[in-house]
Amino acid sequence: KNAIHRICSGQVILDLPSAVKELVENSLDAGATSIEVSLKEYGEESFQVVDNGCGISPNNFKVLALKHHTSKLSDFPDLQSLTTFGFRGEALSALCNLGELTVETRTQNEKVATHLSFDRFGLVTDERTTARQVGTTVTVKKLFSNLPVRCKEFHRNIRKEYGKLISLLNAYALTAKGVRLVCKNTTGKNKSTVVLKTQGSGSLKDNIITVFGTNTFTCLEPVSLFISETCQVDGFLSKSGNGSGRSLGDRQFFFVNGRPVDMPKVSKLVNELYRSANSKQYPVAIMNFVVPTRVCDVNVTPDKRKVFFTDEGSILSSLKEALLKIYSPNLA
Ligand code: ADP
Ligand code: MG
Repeated sequence: KNAIHRICSGQVILDLPSAVKELVENSLDAGATSIEVSLKEYGEESFQVVDNGCGISPNNFKVLALKHHTSKLSDFPDLQSLTTFGFRGEALSALCNLGELTVETRTQNEKVATHLSFDRFGLVTDERTTARQVGTTVTVKKLFSNLPVRCKEFHRNIRKEYGKLISLLNAYALTAKGVRLVCKNTTGKNKSTVVLKTQGSGSLKDNIITVFGTNTFTCLEPVSLFISETCQVDGFLSKSGNGSGRSLGDRQFFFVNGRPVDMPKVSKLVNELYRSANSKQYPVAIMNFVVPTRVCDVNVTPDKRKVFFTDEGSILSSLKEALLKIYSPNLA
């Protein structure tokens, strides 16, 4: 009913991680099985996402970066059962406003690819043919260059934003099954470093091993928690006594139906319960909340990172009970 309100939920691009996230999700929505993220100077100069997805068809070029253009939402009732990441048509229009946007794309119906440049308002300023496999390359240069204050902030915080971005890409590497994900960063005179590289294995277990290594994996145990009739949590947690003395913000990942999200309350709960049972250690936590889409609202915060359950209180208390059974069976 309030679909319009929920669609018009403000700015999507808050920082480097949210910018790259939008592009990676577009690639996933396009059915890509290979996604390469290339950064120049940690993303400060430019970032680019190359995929082998379905490509963009020529009749969409003109509207591509206009606000609220989306090919993914045909009907408002769709919002109740979202399966794609994108649906608001805000990312590309925001990105051309915040930086210099170019797109190279080719569908299987085209013999050649097209290179497109956009201006601040999302209008195509240049269109020419180029060579490319089927798929899409989106490049953004000089993010925030038209917003002096935000730009200064961006440059000052670049290492922090870069760190957050790598952690977010790790989250996709864990959750995306059968998708090869690579991230490279180039600094100085073409010194390129591969920061992340997965082969796109088919299971969470294999993905954990690729991202964190076998040693980390052997310290984990699978969990499958019944939370309610409509909520199940699957994933991996540190085995008892196998946690770490230091906080593991970079090794705790939360998902709703495979979608990376921030869950500070869940993280706090897991830490508390694990720490009280395991001499103050912090656990690795990789937890996917499997719920029917109608019980969670993924549209509340603009960057879609914050997910709100309709019944958060009871989900948290059931989760607490389920975790107590594992970690402190005497208390449960
Ligand atoms: P949304 O993802 O919400 O639809 P975006 O602004 O992110 O909006 O993208 C606008 C449209 O551009 C998408 O609906 C899609 O049709 C097209 N698009 C963007 N990126 C890609 C991509 N990597 N591959 C195929 N199509 C894409
Ligand atoms: Mg999108």
